[in-house]
Amino acid sequence: MGELGKAIGVKLNELIRKLMQMGVMATSNQQLDLDTATLIASEYDYDVKNVAFQEDAVLSGPATEEAKAEDPDAEPRAPVVTIMGHVDHGKTTLLDRIRKANVASGEAGGITQHVGAYRVEVGERAVVFLDTPGHAAFTAMRARGASVTDVVVLVVAADDGIMPQTVESISHAKAAGVPIVVAITKMDKPGNDPERIKQELTKYELVPDEWGGDTFFVPVSAMTGAGIPDLLETLALQSDVLELKANPKKPAFGRVVESRIEKGRGTVVTVLIQEGTLSRSDFVVAGQNFGRVRSMHDSRGKQLKSAGPSTPVEVLGLDGVPSAGDAFYVVANEKDAKRVIASRSDKARAEREAEQNKPTSMADLLASMGKKEKEVQNLILKTDVSGSLEAIRTSLEQIGNDEVEVRMIHAAVGNISESDITLATASDAIVLGFNVGPDAMAKRAADQGGVSIRQFSVIYDVIDAVKEMLSGLLTPETVETVLGHAEVRAVFHIQRVGTVAGCYVTDGKVQRNVQGRVMRGGKKMHEGKITTLKRFKDDVREVTHGFECGLSVDGYKTIEVGDIVEVFEIKEVRRQID
Ligand code: GDP
Repeated sequence: MGELGKAIGVKLNELIRKLMQMGVMATSNQQLDLDTATLIASEYDYDVKNVAFQEDAVLSGPATEEAKAEDPDAEPRAPVVTIMGHVDHGKTTLLDRIRKANVASGEAGGITQHVGAYRVEVGERAVVFLDTPGHAAFTAMRARGASVTDVVVLVVAADDGIMPQTVESISHAKAAGVPIVVAITKMDKPGNDPERIKQELTKYELVPDEWGGDTFFVPVSAMTGAGIPDLLETLALQSDVLELKANPKKPAFGRVVESRIEKGRGTVVTVLIQEGTLSRSDFVVAGQNFGRVRSMHDSRGKQLKSAGPSTPVEVLGLDGVPSAGDAFYVVANEKDAKRVIASRSDKARAEREAEQNKPTSMADLLASMGKKEKEVQNLILKTDVSGSLEAIRTSLEQIGNDEVEVRMIHAAVGNISESDITLATASDAIVLGFNVGPDAMAKRAADQGGVSIRQFSVIYDVIDAVKEMLSGLLTPETVETVLGHAEVRAVFHIQRVGTVAGCYVTDGKVQRNVQGRVMRGGKKMHEGKITTLKRFKDDVREVTHGFECGLSVDGYKTIEVGDIVEVFEIKEVRRQID
């Protein structure tokens, strides 16, 4: 604000006033975003030029669909497939079968484990399979802007038919606009009925091509291998059907499918190359990480010098593990890579600061409007995998009402670290770990700083615990319970004790130290604590219905014969958020 004012020769107060007229609350040392700065400068006939570092200028791809259509260098590429379907219908078995069938003897050992993604050659063509089946993973990737799947294989067990997750899978694929190929599995089992499955799926607009529709149905058995070549052929042909193309002649662009740290190898990042060609020694950037491709392997562990579109590769050489779904770019040199990372961490820091500054300015704003500020529970969330991170984060951010809310100040994959605790201390946050815990340093820091760490392994437990926390922030409800009534029959003035009313308990009971309300002719005269309660000469705690007692009500001396003392208790009842 200050610098903009100086640059265009306008007083700060006037700038602030102008912004307020535009509905923007700003202070003198506030950072303005480009749009706001441009808008306000234009009011004084100035143009704003963005001279900040622009990532796009140094990063490779991705090309738009139109650009690809017009690119003379674009070539057909293999489709990328995700397998979905109901639990136990055979997704994993099918993936395993396809992977093994494609391995020449002798190679088999290396690739029986989960590899993130693998490519299968089918004659002249190929198909790429993502190795994490199911619609949850698919949609989590999509939510992160990483739509990599071209075709969904919907697995339906021939002996079981359409089940709830079959329908969910169809919805997820359709929401993403991804075409479906149906694999009717377990065809070796007795009682299979593929025709009934075809019939039922027409309800979901999946009509077999032999019935005039455009959905391919392939009966298979992952057990015997029957039908699998057919399925692969059908999938490979989707490259033509969907006109899948990419230019292999430019620097690579792709998506991180998986990343991990391996003993002796360092960071291993599985990347699906979507466009261009990745070569050894390329400088690359993904998320907050960069590096130089030291070596590359395919899913069978074979060394590669380069990899083109629709190829999953394991890349060694990054300085850390990026998240699944992160865009993977090639840059010209190390300097550009470092500039991208620096600009990203600057941006992330600015966002974090803006987020942290929000509560104070919001509180000021609300206070000036005479409103009570919402109670906020700050949270830090750490999880083992990015899929559950998104799921938990979305669920938690929905908890709250107009009095209390959750603010997620940090959410990331990984163990709970010392820096998480520092952030928690700074912002009064509770740290939630989902299938992860604190390391030794973090634990010590948490003990010292009094930071609460809660660990979970079931999503619903996290949600319930956060609801409990928020319920604790709600101002409790006060509930009054009438315990009984006493009628004043005589009034005594006793030295050192004061006024004592001789009473008869007409109903319920009278207790010392609870509230008494003095009523006269139906009107309330006074309310105060019952400080003295006596039976004859003795102090007692409680006198019940049908007995006489002496009592005094705090702060009330003018009690009269005939007054009724209503005895009641006020309890604070904790409210619950739903
Ligand atoms: P997912 O939950 O969809 O991944 O299902 P799985 O791949 O774990 O398979 C569930 C069960 O079905 C396992 O016991 C498999 O052995 C069995 N199964 C999977 N495919 C076939 C098949 O083609 N034929 C037969 N008979 N059993 C199968």
